[in-house]
Amino acid sequence: MKALVFHKPKDVRVDTVNDPKIEHEQDAIIRVTSTGICGSDLHIYNGMVPQPRPMVLGHEFMGVVEELGTGVTNLRVGDRVVVPFPVSCGKCHFCDMQLPTHCERSNEKTYGPEGDIIKGKGAGGALYGYTDIYGGVDGGQAEYARVRYAHYNPRIVPDSLTDEQVLFLTDIFPTGWAAVEWGEIKGGETVAVFGCGPVGIMAQKAAWLKGAKRVIGIDIEEYRLEKARAAARVETINAWDTDTVKMIRELTHGYGADVCIDAVGMEAHRSTAEKVMNVVHMEKGTMKVLESCLAAVRRGGTVSVVGVYGSPYDNFPLYKWFDKGIKLRGGQALVQNYIDLLLEMVVNGKVVLDDVITHKVPLSEASHMYKIFNDKDDNCVKVVLKP
Ligand code: NAD
Ligand code: ZN
Ligand code: ZN
Repeated sequence: MKALVFHKPKDVRVDTVNDPKIEHEQDAIIRVTSTGICGSDLHIYNGMVPQPRPMVLGHEFMGVVEELGTGVTNLRVGDRVVVPFPVSCGKCHFCDMQLPTHCERSNEKTYGPEGDIIKGKGAGGALYGYTDIYGGVDGGQAEYARVRYAHYNPRIVPDSLTDEQVLFLTDIFPTGWAAVEWGEIKGGETVAVFGCGPVGIMAQKAAWLKGAKRVIGIDIEEYRLEKARAAARVETINAWDTDTVKMIRELTHGYGADVCIDAVGMEAHRSTAEKVMNVVHMEKGTMKVLESCLAAVRRGGTVSVVGVYGSPYDNFPLYKWFDKGIKLRGGQALVQNYIDLLLEMVVNGKVVLDDVITHKVPLSEASHMYKIFNDKDDNCVKVVLKP
């Protein structure tokens, strides 16, 4: 089959690779019909999350069930499904605690109902197509994908909805939802979302759905701010030429936002540095999104981090966190916890997800699209690949 394979930083190619096979009774093979490129894929693409061997990328994918292991009785061949990006078994110590992204039986060594659990080793549970650190599991930017624990993870979607309407239930909408869940938004809050990429825009939509009074979107790319205004009806701040923290204070009678969401992650360190090595901008805080969040949140407020960080970026401002009594949450989104509720919202027309898509292309163009998405060319916000 054809699949998008990571070779080395900035070198991803559509190669011919072996078709995936059922290897376990709880596996399913999915014929992928749509798959997204995520900001997280760019971390691998840019070498910020190392991957030492070739790997099929992609953790946002959906498709049609082609083949099932004998242990999967809740799905049928021909079902159309979306697949949450974290691999989770549904019944280990952490899955029992509703922490599917920390599943102990999710990487290649521990997979299976009787898989050996290696306690406390490595990063969290496995994620599709997200390096050997996160389980070494091939992803879904491919014609076919092997889905693990298919009795537990894939969700059947109604035929009345297009792929584009439901694809983002695999990752970015649950991630935006996780950001506001962790922000403990109950209604009436001012929420500042740093990053108007696909994840930031989903967090903005989720903030409105949760009853926020005011939602502010922050980015350094004007066209992304424009997208956020159109898709999520937010007021925006361009952090490139504005003192964001000062502006948020001004907008909130000097107090700061109730909740600040970091939907940028370590991307800020790369994009800002690559755009221009400019000390003035670094001092203004555009370089340090997490620090801006801690500065712009009110005392006793919450900072919720869904942007991904790796260990080289561990420079955390403890003093600000402590002095302001800030609640700090974050992590990989607990997709399985929210997906059914969120699917219902899409079905009932409470939320529209496909308005972030700017590019829809065949899988064969994936390599080029990684570059466009990474370079922010052609006003690219979200790419959907059609294998
Ligand atoms: P993206 O790269 O398209 O979006 C990042 C946005 O941040 C861009 O619009 C960029 O212009 C903006 N940005 C960069 N530097 C900035 C700065 N200094 N100040 C303000 N804005 C800045 O990626 P995405 O797909 O929207 O993902 C966003 C983040 O969420 C990434 O870190 C990704 O890895 C992460 N993510 C996390 C989860 C999770 O489960 N926690 C899931 C999906 C994605
Ligand atoms: Zn993702
Ligand atoms: Zn588990």
